[in-house]
Amino acid sequence: MARYRESVCRLCRREGVKLFLKGERCLSKKCAMERRNYPPGQAGQARKKVKEYGIQLREKQKVKRLYGTFEKQFRGYFARADRMKGITGENLLLLLESRFDNVVLKLGFAASLAQARQLVRHKHFLVNGRKVNVPSYRIKKGDTIEVVEPSRKSEAITVAMAHVSDSQIPEWLSIDRKAMKGIAHGTPERAHIQHPIQEQLIVELYSK
Ligand code: SF4
Repeated sequence: MARYRESVCRLCRREGVKLFLKGERCLSKKCAMERRNYPPGQAGQARKKVKEYGIQLREKQKVKRLYGTFEKQFRGYFARADRMKGITGENLLLLLESRFDNVVLKLGFAASLAQARQLVRHKHFLVNGRKVNVPSYRIKKGDTIEVVEPSRKSEAITVAMAHVSDSQIPEWLSIDRKAMKGIAHGTPERAHIQHPIQEQLIVELYSK
């Protein structure tokens, strides 16, 4: 499957919710959702009656896009979540939330998920002292995530860090700004995920 190359703002408009895919711009008046909060395309402003399947499908697409995963990968996460103890929908979100690229974003080392993924791929971080360049790598309790020495002056990273305060970092993570090092003190919990997500709809969709 080819990578999505159109404006990511269209994804927000399609899902009808801010997915925060463009960093600072998402918080400004330039955000496309502030100006055109209706689906893209010619029929975008027409009111459509959405059926149950359509609602479930849109919720799945929204979460898939929020975490930047492809369909096959997303299904893999769901299968894994289903095998785990507990509530499948919650397990799914917690697996996605633990992705390395998402943790880099949440620690404030990147301004957007796309930038976080690029920084990870280009080996700007160590996990527990070792270079990891896999965005889907699962961060676990006790892991440390630090910026490699040569990248500590990277403008992309320092500018992103300046825009995130400690209070914006989820409770299960913390950061030592001077050392440019994050620590996962625990694992994410459902309450840490602020996006409006109805994960049960995804479970229903995949249970058909
Ligand atoms: Fe979505 Fe951000 Fe674009 Fe707004 S600016 S539509 S939140 S990606």
